Amino acid sequence: MFFDTSNELPLLRFASLPQNGRLQHAVFTRQGGVSPAPFASLNLSVSVPDEKARVYANRRRAYGVYGRDTGSVVHAHLVHGRDVARVTQANNGTWIPEVDGIITNELGCALTMNYADCTPIFLYDPIRHAIGLGHAGWQGAVQDLPGAMVAMMGREFGSDPADLVTAVGPCIGPCCYEVGEPVIGAVQSAFADAATLLPANGHGDRPHFDLPEANRRNLLRAGVRYIEMSGLCTACRTDLFFSHRAEKGRTGRFGAIFMLQGNGFG
Ligand SMILES: [Zn+2]
Repeated sequence: MFFDTSNELPLLRFASLPQNGRLQHAVFTRQGGVSPAPFASLNLSVSVPDEKARVYANRRRAYGVYGRDTGSVVHAHLVHGRDVARVTQANNGTWIPEVDGIITNELGCALTMNYADCTPIFLYDPIRHAIGLGHAGWQGAVQDLPGAMVAMMGREFGSDPADLVTAVGPCIGPCCYEVGEPVIGAVQSAFADAATLLPANGHGDRPHFDLPEANRRNLLRAGVRYIEMSGLCTACRTDLFFSHRAEKGRTGRFGAIFMLQGNGFG
């Protein structure tokens, strides 16, 4: 993952995902928006008590990098589950109810989600030309939301997991994610080698959950071979990201966008 400073807003991108006329993606940072603390400054979510007018101004800045706005991207109402929806441009400007993964193979369709410690999951099928964007915190990881996305891309588009180019975005890392029950029990039930996902990390006796590695293992278990890891912890880097844990819940949400460009749009 690297910084792209060629736009008005600082963006993060994955080297593995091509950036060309047909495919574009970004993880926005929290920088470059208009919201004051604790939402400073590029808060993209109205689910936190920021002023809506500021959130919409921030969205114009962020999505505007790609010539879009709130009404020309597909949103998801995230619920920390494992449900995935296939979407089209008919879903532009709407919130897909109660899903944590959205997939599309329609040119011109742009997918967005917001985060503050949960994991952005990017799936790209360069053969079938389809994409998926996901959101997986500990609940999504133990319920295998990444695997559910891979399976649905197989069913809907004929995607072979071995063809997928995938990326695990900035999320809270094992350095900062001390956990107790019910997380420990759920991780032990969900993963064969759970102990390696719950390192003590020298911060006392309590385990820390390795969320990005858990999501990587979910992708591997689904048959994915190409996985780029961001290597960025949202709680370590509150200069770049909103972190629910590090900022004790009083924070905003940074965004991700993933789109297939179509003729005459974007
Ligand atoms: Zn950290």
